[in-house]
Amino acid sequence: MNNDMKQFVIDVVKEASKLALAVQQEMVTPTTVEKSDKSPVTVCDLAIQALVSRRLAEQFPNDALVGEESNDVFADEAGQKLLDQVTGFVQRFEPSENRTSVASWIERGRDEGDENRYWVLDPVDGTKGFLRRQQYAIALGLTIDKTPVLGALGCPCWPRGGEPARAPARETITAPVGRLDSSCNSEGTVYFASQGEGAFSIPLHGTDLTPIHVSDVSDASLARVLRSVEKGHTNVGQIDYIVEKLNIKTDPVSIDSQVKYGVLASGGAEILLRLISPKMPNYKEKIWDQCAGVVVLQEAGGIVSDLDGKPLDFTHGRTLAENRGVCATNGKIHSAVLDAIAAVGA
Ligand code: AMP
Ligand code: MG
Repeated sequence: MNNDMKQFVIDVVKEASKLALAVQQEMVTPTTVEKSDKSPVTVCDLAIQALVSRRLAEQFPNDALVGEESNDVFADEAGQKLLDQVTGFVQRFEPSENRTSVASWIERGRDEGDENRYWVLDPVDGTKGFLRRQQYAIALGLTIDKTPVLGALGCPCWPRGGEPARAPARETITAPVGRLDSSCNSEGTVYFASQGEGAFSIPLHGTDLTPIHVSDVSDASLARVLRSVEKGHTNVGQIDYIVEKLNIKTDPVSIDSQVKYGVLASGGAEILLRLISPKMPNYKEKIWDQCAGVVVLQEAGGIVSDLDGKPLDFTHGRTLAENRGVCATNGKIHSAVLDAIAAVGA
């Protein structure tokens, strides 16, 4: 992969991260997520998909895009208002765009992932984290022959070097809810990796690439565990059993989105678990929730599989239809973790 292409991908994800911060700064988020008006994250999702889609089409006109969003949401009157807001944010970064072009850039992301080479985008991974003003990521990956080969994670609110050394007991990493001020005052981080070339962290507002590596911990009882904040995205009870089985004395750390992959890849934790929520036993992971993070982790020396130890299989379109959940580790303790998963029947 040539340097121009790598720099292009890093710049696109940085630009998208800055768009996300602008939306957070300017659109009020209600204080409780459950009852909230989700419009800030909807605007952000759509605007980022439009901008990234446009940038990719310009640079790689033959490449398809599999994106999470579609422009169906613009169909009714409220949708037309939404399109105005989305277009306004896109125009700050690309003044030549208009309502019609923005809607069609978003629609480019409807690809089913049938081709040999396509980009995979989650414009805002961790929508609840975005609304809570905690963690979220802009996740852009590239798959060639159905294998993820490049990944970039824009983590606008994750402090570089801010990986949790050790989770305080029964605590999650949180930031105050409300209008953005000090809650996301970190400098932000981009994680980037391409196949065979290692993984790096880059300050969102800087240019230095620092190589990152998974941790050396090889005693599973010393491992730090990462899980979703949203209990409905995993099985918290089973995670606790796995922690017990491995004789780990610290509590899991909850972080939204693929920021977890960046933390694991840079040695801030050893285990990332996505178990199956009892409320959605047939849930299949979406490729945009894994693609970029998987490349970052693998290039940093980590291992990712599903809960049965099978490699993640990206050959089934928009979902990982033949996998169950995700188990990612620093590599050294992967089989011990899979044994614990099997022992608790997760
Ligand atoms: P996280 O913040 O790690 O929980 O990941 C956020 C992602 O979880 C979202 O982008 C959703 O696509 C995905 N998600 C939604 N429902 C589920 C579910 N039942 N199980 C696992 N992941 C889910
Ligand atoms: Mg997502």
